[in-house]
Amino acid sequence: MEAPHLEIRLEAIAHNARTLLQRCSARGMNLMGVTKAVCGYVPIAETLVSCGLNMLADSRLANIIRMRQSGIQAEFVLLRTALSQVEQVVQHAHISLNSELPVIRKLSEAAKSLRVKHKVILMVELGDLREGLMPEDLFPAVEQILKLPNIQLYGIGTNLACFGGIRPDDDKMRQLSLLAADVELRCNCKLPLVSGGNSANYEWLAGGGKPGRINNLRLGEALLLGCEPLQRRHIPGLRSDAFTFVGEVIEVKTKPSRPYGEVCQDSFGNIKQFADTGAMQRALLAGGLQDVTAGGLTPLSQVSVLGASSDHIIIDASRISLSTGQTLSFRPNYAALLASMTSPYVSKILV
Ligand SMILES: *Cc1c(COP(=O)(O)O)cnc(C)c1O
Repeated sequence: MEAPHLEIRLEAIAHNARTLLQRCSARGMNLMGVTKAVCGYVPIAETLVSCGLNMLADSRLANIIRMRQSGIQAEFVLLRTALSQVEQVVQHAHISLNSELPVIRKLSEAAKSLRVKHKVILMVELGDLREGLMPEDLFPAVEQILKLPNIQLYGIGTNLACFGGIRPDDDKMRQLSLLAADVELRCNCKLPLVSGGNSANYEWLAGGGKPGRINNLRLGEALLLGCEPLQRRHIPGLRSDAFTFVGEVIEVKTKPSRPYGEVCQDSFGNIKQFADTGAMQRALLAGGLQDVTAGGLTPLSQVSVLGASSDHIIIDASRISLSTGQTLSFRPNYAALLASMTSPYVSKILV
C-alpha cells in the first residue's frame, strides 16, 4: 500500500443527502449539492443525484466538465466566475454565481454567440466580506442585468461564515429575504431562486428560522461530513463516517518527547515548542502535508497526531502496541478532506 488512501462510504453520503433533502424540503427549501471539497468526484456526484439532488455546484469549471463528461444529469452551478473564463462558463455551467457587472456583460455576449441562455445568481454581501455586491448597489445592477440578452437573472444569494466567520442568523436571512422582495417590486422581475447560504445555515433552518423568500441552500460539508461549520457540531441523524484517511506506519521507536539541540525553524518556517513528558513510543506515517492537513485528522485509535512535514506524519503512539507495516485510520475534517481529495498521491477507495 505505502501511499495513504481515503476510504469513501457512498451509502453514508446517500443517507445524508436523503435526510437533508427531506429536512430542507419540509421547510420549502431546495438544495444544491456542493462538490468542490471532493473535487467533483464522480461517484459522489452520482450518489447525490441518485438521491434526488438535481443541482450540483462546484467552484471549479474543470470539476463541472468532468462530471458532465461522465454523463451525470443535473443542473450545474459554478460558484464563482472569472472574466477570463466566460466562454467556458456558458458552455459548461447552466447557472453561475456572480457579483461583477463586467463579468455578467461578458457572459451575456458569450451566451449570445453560443446561442444559449445562461442563468445568473447575483451574490449580495451581508457581512462575511467575501463575495457579493453591497446591498445598496443591488438594484442598479439588477436593472442592468435585466437588459442583457441571453441572461436570465435566476435569483440572488448570499454567503456567510466562510471568511469572516459571520453567523447566518435570523437577522441576516431576513435582510436577504427583504432584498429579494424589494428587487422584484422595484425592478419588476421575478426571482425564482433565493439562495440563503451554505452548511452554516443549517442551524438557522433547523432552529425554526423563518425562510421568508429564501428557498435554496448550497450544502457541501453537511452532506459530506454530517456536521455544521459554525462550531463543527454533528448534525443529529446524519452520518459522519463517509470518509476515513488511512496511512501506513513506516517507523515505530521509543524516543524523547522534546527535540534536542539548538531550536530553529521547522520545514515550514515555524518555530515550535514541545513539552518534555519523558520518553514516548512515536510512529511515522507515510503521508504528509502534501496529502492532508494533518491537524484536521481525528484518530480512530488511541494515538494522537503530533504534527507533520511534507511527507511524514508524526504520531504519539505511547498508548497502543504498534509495528511497522500496520495502518492507522483517521476521520478527516473539512480541510483534511479537501487536501486529501486534491492530492494525486492519496488513492480513493470506495468501500
Ligand atoms: C463552498 C461553498 C458552499 C458550500 O459550503 P459548505 O460549507 O461546504 O456547505 C456554498 N456556497 C458557496 C458560494 C461556496 O463557495
